[in-house]
Amino acid sequence: MKIYMNDRLVDRKDAKVSVFDHGLLYGDGIFEGIRLYDGCIFKLDAHLERLEFSAKAIMLPLPWSRAALTEAICETCRANKLKDGYIRLVVTRGEGSLGLSIKNCEEPQLIIIADKIQLYPEEFYKNGLKIITVPTRRCNPSALPPAVKSLNYLNNILAKIEAQHLGYHEAIMLNDQGYVAECTGDNVFVIHKGKLITPAASAGALKGITRATALEIADKLNLPWEEANLTRYDIWVANELFLTGTAAEIIPIVEVDARPIGDGKPGPITAKFLAAFHAIVTKDGTLI
Ligand code: PMP
Repeated sequence: MKIYMNDRLVDRKDAKVSVFDHGLLYGDGIFEGIRLYDGCIFKLDAHLERLEFSAKAIMLPLPWSRAALTEAICETCRANKLKDGYIRLVVTRGEGSLGLSIKNCEEPQLIIIADKIQLYPEEFYKNGLKIITVPTRRCNPSALPPAVKSLNYLNNILAKIEAQHLGYHEAIMLNDQGYVAECTGDNVFVIHKGKLITPAASAGALKGITRATALEIADKLNLPWEEANLTRYDIWVANELFLTGTAAEIIPIVEVDARPIGDGKPGPITAKFLAAFHAIVTKDGTLI
């Protein structure tokens, strides 16, 4: 396997970062998870724009243009002879001294990994997933903005640990006001009384690329949508529920906190979203 490091491809065994890299020492850095479908990178521009915004938010100047990053990503996919897979783009603050200051981190590090993806089993898409709400709250946006896709995922990891400890694969995280923020690695959507509702970024949701795609699909299906505060009650009484994420795509949820959602089976509108999503993934992309 070839990994892209800074300005070139190297063998996996040579793809190493310094122990003084602030990405390792402090989770100081940003990343993107991107999908490759049939030789086509899905919504690459949107991912690179989010990366640029994350970089700006944490004052990490990116020395690479969008065109250079696009070429590096395509080159990594081609070198690994991938047609379908998952691309992990990481930018760390780079090597510095032992201390939080960013002042002596002069060279951000770029890492691009392109590999096969381990999807949820097919039965989850057919029969739906059961999830729970966990005690760990999503970071307050004024502490660590959840819109920044940073290397600091401990908040989500704590929630994931709680979910897995109880035998679940995903979990709903609330914000510090008790409203639904998102799941540990996915955005949440409710369908209720003919409307699609999802928490806003200000409630603690990442501005997911798949989330934006779901909103585009809602427009195509003539389904009205809004961003709104959702309580656990709104989740429990929803007609349908689904999650979105680059890795999970669109996944129906059939139970939350031991309450069946709708009739406890993936709903008919969710099925339309899944079909529409699969129809566009190879059309809205950058050819490698
Ligand atoms: N929320 C979190 C916390 C995430 O890490 C992700 C990405 N896995 C998402 C939502 C979904 O975003 P996207 O659709 O861009 O993958």
